[in-house]
Amino acid sequence: MILARITRAIREQNWFAVALEFIIVIAGVVIGFQVTAWNAERAEMAAETVIIERLHADILNVGDERWDWSADRASTRGLLLSASAKLFGDDLSNLTAGECNAVSQSHVFNSPSLALPILTELESTGDLDLIRSEQIRTAVTANFLANRWAQEIDVAINHEIFNLSARHPDYFRFALPDNPENWNPIFDGSARCDTGGMRNDRRFLNELADNISKSGYFMVAVLQGPNESFASLHEAVDAELELIHETE
Ligand SMILES: [Zn+2]
Repeated sequence: MILARITRAIREQNWFAVALEFIIVIAGVVIGFQVTAWNAERAEMAAETVIIERLHADILNVGDERWDWSADRASTRGLLLSASAKLFGDDLSNLTAGECNAVSQSHVFNSPSLALPILTELESTGDLDLIRSEQIRTAVTANFLANRWAQEIDVAINHEIFNLSARHPDYFRFALPDNPENWNPIFDGSARCDTGGMRNDRRFLNELADNISKSGYFMVAVLQGPNESFASLHEAVDAELELIHETE
């Protein structure tokens, strides 16, 4: 129909009508493209909102055991350092029960996961680009890097394990508690130590020194690094969703 009108306008040499018809056709095409672009933009924004909301739900789903365990490992590291003053240094007093138990579990380097299912899913489908918020993207990248570094250190420090109570049975005794139903000897404070024997055994001391070094790397690279990048990611997601959590 438009073609017929243009043909007639040309035949009648009505150049104003020809120009008008062209403008109508071009405007129609431009508006069509623009509407398609707006729709695509709206769909991508909706997809991004869904992803960020799922990300926040995943963040909240990481259990308290991760934070409890981090605090527990920090206090174990503190006890290992105070035990060191007695085993390697000039302090000739006996290990306290707390220090003895820290030594008996000084080979334990594991941690509850901080993995976020939505990020693993987006990474595998190649859809991470759907997150367009610059702050969240930066935090996600930092999170991936911290977790990768944590994994490498985790593998390295668990490569050779010095379970001291198993390797040096003469220096440890585990006292059965009155109610042994849920007995967890290495973790519930049941260990008793022969401080003098430990102090005079070079092999024992060197293996303990190895565990203490590893505990430093474990604290920084496996626990703190991922914990901090996780907290930054949570902050970025909260900011994007305009969420404020009540602090206790
Ligand atoms: Zn939040």
